[in-house]
Amino acid sequence: MSNATECHWERQRRYPTRKGKTNEPSRRTETIDRLDVRGDARVVNRVPDNSNFRGIALAPDGIFSITHRGRAVTTGFVYEPFCLRHNPGQGHPERSARLSATIAHLERQPWYGTLAPVPTREAEKDWLRSTHAEEYIARAEAACQQGAAHLDVPDVGISPDSFTAARLAAGGGLALADRLMAGDINNGFSLTRPPGHHAESALALGFCLFNNIAILARYLQSKHGLEKIAILDWDVHHGNGTQHTFEDDGSVLFVSLHQYPYYPGTGAHSETGVGQGAGATINCPMTAGSTDEDYQAAFSERVLPALNSFGPDAILISAGFDAHHDDPLANIDLSTECYRWMSERVVEVADQHAAGRILSLLEGGYSLDALPLSVAAHLEVLLDSSSA
Ligand SMILES: [Zn+2]
Repeated sequence: MSNATECHWERQRRYPTRKGKTNEPSRRTETIDRLDVRGDARVVNRVPDNSNFRGIALAPDGIFSITHRGRAVTTGFVYEPFCLRHNPGQGHPERSARLSATIAHLERQPWYGTLAPVPTREAEKDWLRSTHAEEYIARAEAACQQGAAHLDVPDVGISPDSFTAARLAAGGGLALADRLMAGDINNGFSLTRPPGHHAESALALGFCLFNNIAILARYLQSKHGLEKIAILDWDVHHGNGTQHTFEDDGSVLFVSLHQYPYYPGTGAHSETGVGQGAGATINCPMTAGSTDEDYQAAFSERVLPALNSFGPDAILISAGFDAHHDDPLANIDLSTECYRWMSERVVEVADQHAAGRILSLLEGGYSLDALPLSVAAHLEVLLDSSSA
């Protein structure tokens, strides 16, 4: 018995996919640290149990049960219950029920157990400083500690736990990045709050304290050495904070589809980046009432060509689901299936240019019915990609 054995195994997807298709088994090679069979075993079934895998191995001289602690190459998933404790105030649409309704729905899905749980961490202040002013970080911490009702603007309601929750939300991306770059996961999604894409360097805005996706992009570049990062923001609101963070930086492509004109007012077609970043900001303003077909046309004509010509090393998604037609905050009419379609297109680009690397962070999405369904559709595509 070896402590580190290369095991070839086949994964049999046992849940039906959409349109009634059955997935073909996929073949992987992974390193395991305990294998109770000798020889050239072939695992034909496995039962995921967090990071432990139990299964049946077919070897030339018989059928064996195996147990091993493996490196599952799958979709990483961050969910942090502490984020429920961020309370922006009674009646605020960015409420904790967004997460609790979503996780309850996900846990009922037959594929939920195939996600790789990734614990988040409080993003270190050094990484917060990659995007935010020192003075702002201190001000946010003090305001939460002192029990202030809001930070900077009335719509960023806060509570004593909000600073920690915001660091955990930012840390979700960092934890996924570490697992991605270690080869433990193919892609990942972080189900945390508060969201981040409106947060500016020194200003809280639009329910956001720290710009989670911007911090993640900087982290992938500085910590993990990736050069070109693409950020796709399909939240219905324009990601002003993200755009401003990178608008003079040609190493980060920012592509946004958003209702326009609408909150926060930025994101005109003419905003295309400045200086070294000229051309690396792509805004696709969408008029109220836009449909799946309008978004698909924008994808085909602008989003996908921009991503393909940039050739990113990783694609990050500011995954807000508030362009759904059931969302109470905006006036775009996307179906749940459109989120699946957009996710599939991003996977194709990531497979072509970025070794499949996609990390996706929850931004908005305020319908407790549409948000869980949309997140599930998004995750199903990421999982399909992981097992392809
Ligand atoms: Zn939004």
